[in-house]
Amino acid sequence: MTASYPDTQLFIDGQWRPGSGGRTIPVIDPATSERIGHVARAEIADLDAALAAAARGLTVWAATGVMDRYRIMRRAADLLRERAATIAVTMTQEQGKPVAESQGEIMAGADIIDWFAEEGRRSYGQIIPARVPGVTQMTLKLPVGPVAAFTPWNFPINQAVRKVSAALAAGCSIIVKAPEETPAAPAELIRAFADAGVPAGVVNLVYGSPAEISEYLIPHPVIRKISFTGSTPVGKHLAGLAGLHMKRVTMELGGHAPVIVCDDADLEKAVRLIAGSKLRNAGQVCVSPTRFLVQEAAYTPFLTGFTAAMQAARVGNGLEAGVTIGPLANDRRVIALEALVADAVEQGAKLVTGGKRIGNVGNFFEPTVLAEVPLAARIMHEEPFGPIAIVNRFGSLDDAIAEANRLPFGLASYAFTTSAQTIQRLGQEIDAGMTTINHLGLALPEVPFGGVRDSGYGTEGGSEAIEAYLTTKFVTHMPV
Ligand code: NAD
Repeated sequence: MTASYPDTQLFIDGQWRPGSGGRTIPVIDPATSERIGHVARAEIADLDAALAAAARGLTVWAATGVMDRYRIMRRAADLLRERAATIAVTMTQEQGKPVAESQGEIMAGADIIDWFAEEGRRSYGQIIPARVPGVTQMTLKLPVGPVAAFTPWNFPINQAVRKVSAALAAGCSIIVKAPEETPAAPAELIRAFADAGVPAGVVNLVYGSPAEISEYLIPHPVIRKISFTGSTPVGKHLAGLAGLHMKRVTMELGGHAPVIVCDDADLEKAVRLIAGSKLRNAGQVCVSPTRFLVQEAAYTPFLTGFTAAMQAARVGNGLEAGVTIGPLANDRRVIALEALVADAVEQGAKLVTGGKRIGNVGNFFEPTVLAEVPLAARIMHEEPFGPIAIVNRFGSLDDAIAEANRLPFGLASYAFTTSAQTIQRLGQEIDAGMTTINHLGLALPEVPFGGVRDSGYGTEGGSEAIEAYLTTKFVTHMPV
């Protein structure tokens, strides 16, 4: 299949425009290593224009009636659904994932917009009983102010849609710094909002040098709230910068998700669900299952079944029918994964399957299983962010929980067991933002999505997510 790929411009104050310096950044198809297009690169003058637009946009949007905001957001969700088939091809061209996954991401994005549109109608304040007769005490939920959002390349739409939707539902304006490597799909998200009637200046989109843009936007007095999704080291740096300038922050960072498989688990179901989850987006997912901890009696059957499922995956260009795993999104990941596998093997891990790049065109990597990986291996500490699973053994549940909690990350965690008592313990004792047991239940719009410790703070889903974009203003008055 050959499909055209659009060049991407900045979107500032309701206008699609090139960077003021005329500079662009090439976009590479990770399946073919070919340059397929360009994205405009913002200069400081463009950031100034976006900041001025966002300041005006806040005034316009905060004064827009809540039902008008709701209707515009619902229309944006519908436009995204109508355009999903076309946008999915674009997303696969720039990011690599199979086109069915791209389509699923876009449809899920539309559901997230709908959810936040509805939440915007429910951002209630309180009336607080007063001590003095005649006094009224109340809280108002007001938009925190213009938001700067930084989103990564693994889910070009879904990492942006949570931030944009929560901001809009709360009445905020926003500047999105979307990923330069996968720029066209997030631009289509912004286009859906613009075409749905979001006024000029309310949503702005820039690309460029990530460090230059974050160093400029985060301290800027117009910006009142920062939201970042990406790696833990970058998140810590940006959180520090935000702290220095007293800005509200949401951080959705890396993980190293444990998967506890107990002797009493339904192994057929566990293998089927978790292998599909591991292969999704070629493992480039912050909640990807990574450290499989399997109890002694279940170890060999689980390893055998899981390895077969990984070997059955069809790796190829995500535009081709039947492909279940596409290339890695950039060549940095191939280099990183090769180094992690080589180090693990050197430290004594067994390479059960995979472990190598495939071919020399595109960023294809074999679905990989490493077994009995010692703690000395780097991969036991670093997020692989690729199609690699570590399968190790455990004896007692205490050991499994201790290993699950060993790392500073605490984002997603998984478990399979038929014991009600074990389910109860794991739900409470795994130190992570999210635990899903016997099914894959993460990342729906209506449930919390976020981590603890080095995986960040704040939630990007569920009824609490909009709070991050609201301030609570207290007002009290009495009759004169
Ligand atoms: P990276 O650490 O250089 O970048 C991660 C993300 O942060 C990218 O989107 C990048 O554009 C952005 N970024 C980098 N420096 C920035 C800065 N100074 N200001 C603002 N944004 C900045 O690494 P990478 O090679 O792009 O990705 C590798 C690692 O990042 C992965 O191993 C994974 O741990 C993590 N990651 C996590 C997620 C997630 O969903 N949480 C998404 C993408 C990448």
